[in-house]
Amino acid sequence: MESLISHYQQLLGLPSSWNVDNVDLSLPHKRVTIKLKYVGQDVKCPECKASCSIYDHAPEQKWRHLDTMQFETILVARLPRVNCKEHGVKTASAPWADKHSRFTLMFEGFVVQLLQHCASTQAVASMLRLSWHSVDQIMRRALARGMKRRDTEAIRHLGIDEKSFRAGHQYVTIMNDLDGGRVLDVVETRTTKATVKLLTSLAAKQRKKVLSVSVDMWNPFAHAVRKKVPQADLVHDRYHISKYLNDAVDAVRRQESRALNTTGDKTLIGSKYAWLRNPENMSDKQRADFDQLMTCELQTGIAWSLKNMFRAFWVLTTRDAAEYFFQYWSDAVDRSKLKPIIKVKDMMVRHLEGILNFFRHRTTNAVSEGLNSKIQLIKASARGFHSFESYRTRILFYCGKLDMAI
Ligand SMILES: [Zn+2]
Repeated sequence: MESLISHYQQLLGLPSSWNVDNVDLSLPHKRVTIKLKYVGQDVKCPECKASCSIYDHAPEQKWRHLDTMQFETILVARLPRVNCKEHGVKTASAPWADKHSRFTLMFEGFVVQLLQHCASTQAVASMLRLSWHSVDQIMRRALARGMKRRDTEAIRHLGIDEKSFRAGHQYVTIMNDLDGGRVLDVVETRTTKATVKLLTSLAAKQRKKVLSVSVDMWNPFAHAVRKKVPQADLVHDRYHISKYLNDAVDAVRRQESRALNTTGDKTLIGSKYAWLRNPENMSDKQRADFDQLMTCELQTGIAWSLKNMFRAFWVLTTRDAAEYFFQYWSDAVDRSKLKPIIKVKDMMVRHLEGILNFFRHRTTNAVSEGLNSKIQLIKASARGFHSFESYRTRILFYCGKLDMAI
């Protein structure tokens, strides 16, 4: 028994003021219970760190520690209480655990490592015989540590994007650091007010250094950027514009398909995805089918050509060339008389300054798209979220590039 006690004394790496008093091994419960005893002369006040005399001991508390050879290992101790002249009677903090946690720091560090390799909170919880809630609390404490240590000095290019949260058009707004490839924060809804809140999560001093903010052509985002980072250029990126153009092609296809159907013409049935693919991504078979479709002189074919033509915009080398190209393209759109495409073009005309700003910063959407698909995986593995807060916790835990070590 003596050697077991001294083993644990060493393994736990306790400060000299704490001793292992007793180790209880329960074979039927597969549990090791380690009783710790405070043997120091005085105690530090948890508020002011002043050395005080011991007042008494708080009731017994338990902390789950790392397993010992598959035996659940529990630390038990009565924490000393101080009587500080300034702060009164206070319970001293345990050197092995965070305040309010029922787990030791080493155990929490282990849980964080597991979570980093497994996106499912539930899977980690069942592996360690913990409740979902306990793992969630450990994640939140890890996140708080990481956010406190985070360095935001180097942020120059921001991306703001919306993401659906739950069914029924509930959205969250996400702010990305495009240089650092990380999510900076998440807020509920996608209003101007929410976006202002998101931007002010960065200190004013930091916001002044921002050169550009990439956003969708969604006015509340633009208003918030004008308010909180007025010096930064607003950039409307390729990702969002491509999405609008794809949707417009699809709208033309649906209309035309319906019209053709009434005359028994099935040409467009089942062709939705053919119009969304870029030619270089088509297989030989897809390419042959697509060429066949294009010979049919469809309105959808014209819409597709206009969308495809616009891809050339992004590879132009100067802003002037881009402005000239845009005029040329927008005339072609007008001549097509295809309402869905004209509608997107009109929106682009209203936001042309932001679209042309791409040629000043050339921030790509690759970072936001990468983060977006990562968030998609988190959503899929959680099969829905109980609350916005648990959604935000996971987005930042997995996409914040935070140092959350103990
Ligand atoms: Zn004190």
